[in-house]
Amino acid sequence: MDKIVSLCRRRGFVFPSSEIYGGLGSTYDYGHYGVLLKNNIKARWFEAMIFERDDIVALDSAVILHPRVWEASGHVEGFSDPLVDCRTCKLRFRADKLEDSQCGRKPSKRPGEFKECDLTEPRQFNLMFETTVGPVQEAGSKAFLRPETAQGIFINFKNVLQIARRRPPFGIAQVGKSFRNEITPGNFLFRVREFEQMEMEFFVPPAEAEQWYRYWIEQRLDWYLRYGVRRSRLRVREHGSEERSHYSRGTSDIEYLYPIGWSELEGVANRGDFDLKRHTEFSTTKLEYVGPDGERYVPHVIEPAVSLERIIVAVLADAYDEEVVGERERTVLRFHPQIAPVTAAILPLIAKDEGMVSTARRLYEELRKRHAVEYDDNGAIGRRYRRQDEIGTPWAFTIDEQTLADDTVTIRDRDSLAQERLPIGGVRERLGELLEQDWQTPKPD
Ligand code: ATP
Repeated sequence: MDKIVSLCRRRGFVFPSSEIYGGLGSTYDYGHYGVLLKNNIKARWFEAMIFERDDIVALDSAVILHPRVWEASGHVEGFSDPLVDCRTCKLRFRADKLEDSQCGRKPSKRPGEFKECDLTEPRQFNLMFETTVGPVQEAGSKAFLRPETAQGIFINFKNVLQIARRRPPFGIAQVGKSFRNEITPGNFLFRVREFEQMEMEFFVPPAEAEQWYRYWIEQRLDWYLRYGVRRSRLRVREHGSEERSHYSRGTSDIEYLYPIGWSELEGVANRGDFDLKRHTEFSTTKLEYVGPDGERYVPHVIEPAVSLERIIVAVLADAYDEEVVGERERTVLRFHPQIAPVTAAILPLIAKDEGMVSTARRLYEELRKRHAVEYDDNGAIGRRYRRQDEIGTPWAFTIDEQTLADDTVTIRDRDSLAQERLPIGGVRERLGELLEQDWQTPKPD
């Protein structure tokens, strides 16, 4: 994990937030490559959820919803984790995660392991961030930052049913920020207080719920495999009945073998009819499906939910590699080409050679209309290749003396390091073809 964090910082993927003020420890800012990586992952998720199917529509609901939404959903009453305080070191821990926590004293141990540790009894701590709506703080002005995007979907069920003219089974997908006042944030982006969720609520006839639940576990697992995550690092863990939320009729975590061990990457839940029924009760608006022949029922809901942050840590861990080439060590991020922040680098071999520079610039301008490409003429070519390896750029096109003589360029492959020449006029088409090809990581399982 330390190596990934340091690479992310060095290459400007992710910075600790508010660093010049000493940092906040629980939020992060994304730099240029981090934004590109995040946007690509989001785009692949959107493609799989919306563009490749006929039965899911998009939504972008507000962060601040009517406070009653969170009463109906059960969050006001029950969205809490058990908290313990240490009277000695004054730190707070999640009672159910003491194994993963570190005491404030040195050498660090688990809370409770020092004889001086003095832990309180666990008490429930609500994870929702409170805020005030409007200029005056008064009764009724209290609101919350959403801790999940799902509720924004449930309260729009009727709108989508009527206006988008859908009938179950159909889904509503949304990507957006969620906020949780986590007791112990940490492990880089894995547990943060502000994160971007990608959730999809799939409304189905009650009798089909179990079948769709299994279907979505498979679909989501396949999505990770499609984008190159190693199969051996993924597993599905089904929750036992004691672990499930009160509304859940079945929950499975898709876990990834993070540097911290197997942990939840994505959750797939069969939420039954809990949410629509509760919002019907609290809002008095009937949230149900009425068919053309008069049949009516409250659909059941299957929900795959994940954060971009957890995917980013998984993808980085899966892609990170070090190898010795010749005498040199190189660090390389072996991203799937459709996820890599930069698809190709355009490199004139000699920055002072006007012919090479103008040819390279022309190629760059042509390619950037369609692809995320980067032009770089700064430093020795070996250093430039290593820089592109570290940000995970799958291909580099180099313009050299021969280019000026015969209009060919070299293409260098990030993973195999193979180099071959091709006509400069065929680069755009070649890049398009390469991007379409199936890709598998060369990293061993
Ligand atoms: P955990 O048990 O790890 O706290 P959870 O089961 O409460 O997670 P869910 O409520 O199921 O998480 O949230 C759905 C998804 O949102 C998770 O699978 C995870 O990908 C993501 N997620 C939840 N909390 C965080 C967080 N604090 N930071 C980053 N991602 C998060």
